Amino acid sequence: MADYTKMWQDLGLDIESHEALLSVLGKAYADIFLVQKNRPEGMKYFDFVMSEVHGLRIKEIMDAKAQGRIVVGSYCTFVPEELVLAVDGVAVGLCAGAEFGFEAAETLLPRNTCSLIKSVFGFKLGRVCPYLESCDIVVGENTCDGKKKAYEILAPLVKDFYVMDMPQVKSEMGRKLLREEYRKFMAKLEMESGKEITPASLKRGIEIVNEKRKAMLRLNALRAADPTPISGLDALLINQVFFHDDPVRFTDSVNKICDELEIRVKDHTGVAPKGTTRLIVSGCPMAVPNWKVPMLIESSNAVIVGEESCVGERSTRWLTDVKGSTIDEMLDAIVDRYFNIDCAIFTPNPSRVNHVKEMVKDLHANGVIHYSLQFCQPYIIESNPVEKELEKSHIPTLRLETDYSQEDTGQLKTRIEAFVERLKKR
Ligand code: SF4
Ligand code: SF4
Repeated sequence: MADYTKMWQDLGLDIESHEALLSVLGKAYADIFLVQKNRPEGMKYFDFVMSEVHGLRIKEIMDAKAQGRIVVGSYCTFVPEELVLAVDGVAVGLCAGAEFGFEAAETLLPRNTCSLIKSVFGFKLGRVCPYLESCDIVVGENTCDGKKKAYEILAPLVKDFYVMDMPQVKSEMGRKLLREEYRKFMAKLEMESGKEITPASLKRGIEIVNEKRKAMLRLNALRAADPTPISGLDALLINQVFFHDDPVRFTDSVNKICDELEIRVKDHTGVAPKGTTRLIVSGCPMAVPNWKVPMLIESSNAVIVGEESCVGERSTRWLTDVKGSTIDEMLDAIVDRYFNIDCAIFTPNPSRVNHVKEMVKDLHANGVIHYSLQFCQPYIIESNPVEKELEKSHIPTLRLETDYSQEDTGQLKTRIEAFVERLKKR
């Protein structure tokens, strides 16, 4: 990687802490990803993106800012990239996945806050995230209680923190609220960027994001093959890069790897032998560099064939209808698309478990690992009925609750191995 110290200094990063973080991440990446056998050639692009995730990509973002484009960061898949692209902005995901700066975070938050929220604070207080520091607007959404209350504390620490309200029920009123919030967000984007959203610019935004999602749907479908042509770790990585990369280049790179995977499927080439135990992981999002559980699963004689998560199918399924020609019609189509998202903040939330069942069937999975972050009430509480419903449908399910530390890896590994053994005996 070139020397980006000056750029990081200009962004106000704590250079020493940032270097320490990058060196831990670089080592973890090499130990987890680069040691995998028989990886598709197309993963080289994603390895490169990861090696430059705080370097070249940030430089591109800074260049975009210098050309007058705004940078909009968000923590949730409910924030539509289509709208940001409609003002020629750059959308970046900020969901933090590392155990960094938790001590500092706990001076502002209760200890029993989920790791994801603590990580958001750790990154901000420790000044180690160049994405967060390059944002012109940071969007917080009133989803779970943890996030919405934590945002009250985060807001004064961030230059322009914008809160989007969110429905909690899939009702006509809920849909109206989401539409109104997206409408207000459009006005905010227009004001900050000084650019008007036109039918043409909105259509372009929708088309770019649709193409990105289509490429991901293609990738997901290819994982139905046995042997599976790509590891769950690599597929998760692509899902993580989804939130950071330039959308058009990302789409091209995913389509390229899909071309390669199609050949692998035809040739019956896979990353694990045919008949390896196949699992779906369902639950909380796994933001970069949260790779612990997938790494444990794939080193236990199993392969992950799908992610029912916001860093997974909850973000990539459903396209936005492009038939509309007015802004109102297109906004309706965007609301229709996003209102499908079956996050556990919704009550009730039956479509989520139905989707897990569909994934098990379509991807020929043998079982489901339900993944919750400790103290995440929505997903932990929902994990009980999800497990019951899956087991009722004869889908073996293992519920895991963990955090970002490495302390429980031994215990998790034992439970995962026992689960895989149980599936093999069926
Ligand atoms: S799990 Fe819910 S709150 Fe978290 S990113 Fe997904 S939609 Fe947003
Ligand atoms: S993991 Fe759970 S508690 Fe944490 S931010 Fe996401 S929904 Fe909220």
